Amino acid sequence: MPPLGPGDLKKEVKDQVEKNKVMIFSKTTCPFCAKVKDLFKSLNQEYGVTELDKIANGAEIQNILLEETGQRTVPNVFINGNHLGGCDDTLKAHKNGSLQAMLQEATNYDYDLIVIGGGSGGLAASKEAASLGKKVAVFDFVKPTPMGTTWGLGGTCVNVGCIPKKLMHQAAILGQSLVDAKHFGWEVPEKVEHNWETMRNAIQDYIGSLNWGYRVQLRDKKVDYQNSYAEFIDNHTIKGVNKKGKEVTKTARDFIVAVGERPRYPDIPGAKEYGITSDDLFSLSYCPGKTLLVGASYVSLECGGFLHGIGLDVTVMVRSILLRGFDQQMANRIGDYMEASGINFIRPCVPTKIEKLEDGQPGKYKVYGKYSDGTEYSDTFNTVIFAIGRDPVTSTIGFDKVGVKLNKNGKVIADENEATNVSNIYAIGDILEGKLELTPVAIQAGKLLARRLYNNSKVLTDYINVATTVFTPLEYGSIGYSEEAAIEKFGEANIEVYHTNFWPLEWTVAKREENVCYAKIICHIPDKERVVGFHVCGPTAGEITQGYALGIKLGATKKDLDDTIGIHPTCSEQFTTLNVTKRSGKTIDQGGC
Ligand code: FAD
Ligand code: NDP
Repeated sequence: MPPLGPGDLKKEVKDQVEKNKVMIFSKTTCPFCAKVKDLFKSLNQEYGVTELDKIANGAEIQNILLEETGQRTVPNVFINGNHLGGCDDTLKAHKNGSLQAMLQEATNYDYDLIVIGGGSGGLAASKEAASLGKKVAVFDFVKPTPMGTTWGLGGTCVNVGCIPKKLMHQAAILGQSLVDAKHFGWEVPEKVEHNWETMRNAIQDYIGSLNWGYRVQLRDKKVDYQNSYAEFIDNHTIKGVNKKGKEVTKTARDFIVAVGERPRYPDIPGAKEYGITSDDLFSLSYCPGKTLLVGASYVSLECGGFLHGIGLDVTVMVRSILLRGFDQQMANRIGDYMEASGINFIRPCVPTKIEKLEDGQPGKYKVYGKYSDGTEYSDTFNTVIFAIGRDPVTSTIGFDKVGVKLNKNGKVIADENEATNVSNIYAIGDILEGKLELTPVAIQAGKLLARRLYNNSKVLTDYINVATTVFTPLEYGSIGYSEEAAIEKFGEANIEVYHTNFWPLEWTVAKREENVCYAKIICHIPDKERVVGFHVCGPTAGEITQGYALGIKLGATKKDLDDTIGIHPTCSEQFTTLNVTKRSGKTIDQGGC
């Protein structure tokens, strides 16, 4: 074995244990090791062996084994990825027959890999593992929401997340375009109405085609799809229950868990009876009418934005700040823009009770709340949407039976290999502690993990500098540090912030607002002004941000941006001509080329 760093070495040991049905860490001079090897030879059982006295880092491996198993001595024997023990333990297991049972079990798994969860991460992992020749099953099951909404294969993004959200955002953009169109000569009728049902049906039809497409892809790749809710029985066995209550039990050598999250409800009277969440909104059979959104993060602001954009009366109830974790200057610009466009913000306030006033589709509900100073709030709405966060679905899948470690919020604790503390169980996507909850992140993690497990790859998912976009009416794209986080990390004196307002050309003739769109980069001065934060709010922020994400990943500096010739006239070109520092206090208002 070539010399390896400490992290690499730990992974190498783990890989050897996982890849060999029988793995022996041994020394050539040890008579007990010879005895154990002879035993496996007599059983005609192949084994992997690492002779620790023949490699440079043998002692370090012994330390790792001590840390992982409590045993430093050799032989150190593993069967099916589980620690068996030393020579005496192996001989004893042989004598009482458990060794033979373990070896038998190893050959009889139903699958090489079972993936629990057929969302962004799970589908990516299962397809990749199957392409690498592994026998794979995916268990995916959607538990209905309190109001009974359910959906097909593909997980949150496809059914109740990114896809319907972006399409409804597009519906809102088209509404704005109709207003703009008049300035460009289109004779649009004075009163243009939006039809919720038409939009909903078209989007749901498209989602249906995606659900079907995923099923076909799994079939083509020979991945066995089970529409059943899976739960661990032991670390190689799961039970699956389908919607008719029929049970199956299946075994696998490895498991990847990608069960995602579901929306949280507040613990207040009427919440589950009368409130809905984003899990219900996109397939709602009727127009939601006057709507209250509770919460001030991604889901709330995005949904509030498009509902207002299609002409509804929208209120957002904010407990504290907007978009916690994001650059607050940007978050407030988004909020100000939404408020100026007619969305009502109630803050700082939390709901305390919902009462039904009238049945109907939509019905009518009275919402009570409390401002932080104790003042009472109440208003009536047709629909109340809770967007107060999402909880990982990890408490009902038998993790307690296999001992997978979770944090206090139910997120899975895993290492940089997405490996849990149980050697054959991995976790990816939204359920991982401390990782971004985004579809491309889950997909990348699933694909790369399958390659590491089944194709000797060592490439880890790079969770740093992942670009993201909030699809609010004024879209917001960001990469890397917020200004607050950069100041905290590098110190205010060590960062330079370059910024500008801009007025998209398309907005000029349309007589839309000047100086609401904004571009800013945060540079680390001692590192040649390397760009450590990138923020833009304006139209197509997602498209702008994706391109710059590559540059920032490759270590782009302010000079690199200055040396890049822009594309005129675009919003994106702003980043090639930034010349006002925030420190200077100079004006950043702009108009014309
Ligand atoms: P999921 O996609 O949630 O898949 C998990 C699957 O496992 C589900 O089908 C679930 O029903 C199933 N399951 C759960 N338990 C079991 C079990 N025991 N047995 C069998 N199956 C089970 N991300 C972006 O990148 N861009 C966006 O624009 C964006 N917009 C979003 C908008 C909304 C409203 C929401 C809610 C999320 C949005 N996200 C967005 C986040 C994105 O959807 C998630 O990060 C992504 O879906 C996570 O993938 P996952 O594989 O971890 O889980
Ligand atoms: P978040 O956990 O990010 O935000 C929850 C919001 O609800 C916060 O504003 C929080 O306020 C508020 N809140 C929490 N509890 C209460 C309560 N009891 N009463 C009132 N308000 C409350 O959740 P989201 O559901 O918005 O997003 C989940 C994840 O989904 C995100 O982290 C994101 O990664 C992903 N996503 C990605 C999108 C994209 O890429 N465009 C779009 C949508 C989601 P406070 O700040 O005071 O705690």
